[in-house]
Order: sequence, then C-alpha cells, then structure tokens
Amino acid sequence: MTLALALAKFGATVVVLERNSKVQEVGAGLQLSPNARRVLNQLGLDKAISARSFEPRAIDVYPYRAKRPVVSLELGAIMRERYGVPYSVIHRADLADLLYRACKRFANIDLLFGIRNFDAVNHARGTSLVIDEANGANRSARVFALVGADGVRSETRTRVLNGPEASYSGYVAWRTTIAADLLKDVLALDRTTLLLAPGYHAVCYPLPARKQVNVALFVKTKARELDVPPKEPKLPWAALPSKTLETIVRLAKGGWGYWIVDTVDATVWSDGGVGIIGDAAHAMLPFQAQGAAMGIEDAAILAPLLMTEPDASSAFQRFGAMRKERVERVRNISNFNGFAYHLEWPFTLGRDLVLKAQGPRGHLKRLDWLYGFDAAPEPPVPPPERVPKAAEGSRP
Ligand SMILES: Cc1cc2nc3c(=O)[nH]c(=O)nc-3n(C[C@H](O)[C@H](O)[C@H](O)COP(=O)(O)OP(=O)(O)OC[C@H]3O[C@@H](n4cnc5c(N)ncnc54)[C@H](O)[C@@H]3O)c2cc1C
Repeated sequence: MTLALALAKFGATVVVLERNSKVQEVGAGLQLSPNARRVLNQLGLDKAISARSFEPRAIDVYPYRAKRPVVSLELGAIMRERYGVPYSVIHRADLADLLYRACKRFANIDLLFGIRNFDAVNHARGTSLVIDEANGANRSARVFALVGADGVRSETRTRVLNGPEASYSGYVAWRTTIAADLLKDVLALDRTTLLLAPGYHAVCYPLPARKQVNVALFVKTKARELDVPPKEPKLPWAALPSKTLETIVRLAKGGWGYWIVDTVDATVWSDGGVGIIGDAAHAMLPFQAQGAAMGIEDAAILAPLLMTEPDASSAFQRFGAMRKERVERVRNISNFNGFAYHLEWPFTLGRDLVLKAQGPRGHLKRLDWLYGFDAAPEPPVPPPERVPKAAEGSRP
C-alpha cells in the first residue's frame, strides 16, 4: 500500500491485489524508525500516524537477571531533534488501516481483495497478468509492471521469478499484547524494554492508543522442533528464571501468536516487468526492527523509477543497484544483534561493558546512516529567479 500511494502521487494507475478478504494484520506492534516515518510523512500520513502511535522515551536494555538497565538508549525528543521525525511504535493493524484509508482517497488506486491466484508472463511488448478473483472470475491485463510485495513466502519470487524459498533462521517469535494496566508495576510504560538472556530475548513496548503493551519473545529453536508447533511458548526461561519475563508470561495467559522467523536471500529481484520488494526480496532477522522499514524505503525508491525509466525492466534494474548494498548492511546489523543478544556468560560481560561504554546516545552515532536516510528527498527548491536591478536613472 505504501508503494501504491507513492505511485498514485505521480498519477499512476495502481491495482493492489491482496490474498486476504480484507485488510488484516496479524501480530501486534511495529517499531517505526525515522527512515520509515520520513517516507510515510512525505505521503501525507504524519498526522494519522501521530494520532495512533507512541514515541518511547528510550530503550532500556536489561542483561539477564539484571535489576537495572545496563544502558538506556535515548529515543523520544532526541530523535526528532536529530532526524526531524520521530521514532515511534504503532499497532500493525492501525498502520495497515491508515494506509488503507489513504489508498481509498485516491481514485487511481484500486484494491482487490480475496485474490485466489495470479500469474505473470513477460513478452516483447510488456507483461501480461492473469488473476483469479474471490468470486471465481478471472481477469487478465497487460501491465507496465507487476511488483510482488507479497512477503517472506512470496510466490512472485518463488514461482514467477523462479527464486529461492525462504530459509528458517533458527528463531521463533512469540507475540502477544497485554493490558497496560496489568503491567504498570512490571515495566516502565513510557519506554521500550529489551530483556536479554542466553537463548532468548524479549522486546516490550507500550501501545497507549490501544491501552496495551506489545511483547515479542524470540526463542532459538531447532528446525526439527517446528514440525509440531507447540500450543504455548516452549519455556526456555523455565530453566533460566527471569522474574520480569515470568510475570509477563503469567499475565499473557497463553494468548500468544507463534511466528516462525524465516529469511530470504534472493540475488535476483526482477525479470523484465516483474520485480519484488520488501520481505519478498530481502526478509531479514527482525533484531534491528527494520524489515518493514526497508519495505517502506523500497516503495519510496521504486515509485519514481517506475515513473521515469523508459520501461519497467530498467526501473527494476536501477532499483536493485540502488538498494542491495543498504539492505545488506541492515541485514548484517540485524544478524549481529541476534548474536549479541543471546550471548552466554562470560561473553555477556564484554558485551555489557561495550553497551555501557557507548552510553545513551551511542546507538545514534552508530546508526546515523540508517535513521538519517531520506529515501524520497523532496526536489530542491529552485532559487528565486534573479531579476537584474534596474540601473539608476534607467527606465523600469
Ligand atoms: C516478530 C517480528 C517483529 C518485527 N518487528 C518489526 C519492527 O518493529 N519494525 C520493522 O520495520 N519490521 C519488523 N518486522 C519485520 C516486518 O514485519 C516485515 O519486514 C514486514 O511486515 C514486511 O512487509 P511486506 O509488506 O514486505 O510483507 P508482509 O507484511 O508479509 O505483507 C505481504 C502481503 O502480501 C499478501 N500476499 C501474500 N501472498 C499473496 C498472494 N499470493 N496473492 C496476493 N496477496 C498475497 C499477504 O496477505 C500480505 O498482506 C518484524 C518481524 C517479526 C517476525
């Protein structure tokens, strides 16, 4: 939907094909970093996001069993000061809903739900698309481009582009939301809490617009254990007691969603008029909270290319050339975080010393290249035309 909005702004006609029968978002919260927010603001969504999101003051990092955070990474006001836009958190369903409403305002965006199947073929004069609609009817059309933003298990990648299947990352995410009232004595509700431990970590942040707290618990899990998904989180912390986490698990009362974290390493992102963006192209570990942000950036960068390049094939080629290095860099820091978050004693001692030494603003210096990135810079305002001053005594 971000891509649809970015294209519609240029006057393109866009059809969004969605498999689900309506806008629905599983899971819970999403951290929206400044690089993503900047794009969404440029699409006119600032107020709508502000109304439903929350700006945590900091990320408090708790090593295993620590009673106090080893560091409190500043967010809040400093993010606005430094990057001109906030670092916020929002419920996924709220973001999906406000994107949907924004799309509905454009006469040149059509949203088709309940798509059962699709196929695309490149030929000399463009790309042909066939879709099976919810009511069983099928439609075909010649299109300028088909952009697969169909997620980690993208059929555009695997079936149309003959690309690789997603691979299991070794992690399972358990997600839930808990009434904020219940957690007011357990977590500081003006900020994000990151609980680290050998073999698992948890990220908790408030979603005040819904009076809830989002909890995502990431657990290292062997691939063979995935065949029979457990009904409840498998409790690695039973062997590693953490008071805060035990309380969270008790309060969640089993209301967890189970999400196998897969990643995608596709070298080919396009063929002719068919291309992929977002998780379909480069799903990564969520440990820098950047997967959706990368997809949002993708949309902002691909849209003007599709509007200005002579054909979709060259738009996709240029897009790949512009994106791959940055996406890889983000993937690498996400992998590194996964390694550092789950370290075991005594290696945790070194990690915690580094975290402490970097201090509350260390992450900003380290991540300026990430958060300060502007995927859709406004064209520079041309200087006012110089009118030569009339020479004294001459006629105007
Ligand atoms: C636990 C967890 C926490 C995360 N936290 C963050 C975070 O804080 N910040 C962040 O930036 N990222 C985060 N991520 C990553 C983020 O969720 C993903 O990167 C993001 O959702 C990818 O967006 P997407 O649009 O590419 O794909 P998706 O969100 O997967 O959307 C794909 C869409 O395509 C549709 N679709 C799929 N197949 C078809 C088909 N055949 N026909 C029609 N429609 C189809 C789906 O129904 C869906 O609507 C997290 C991920 C996890 C697992």
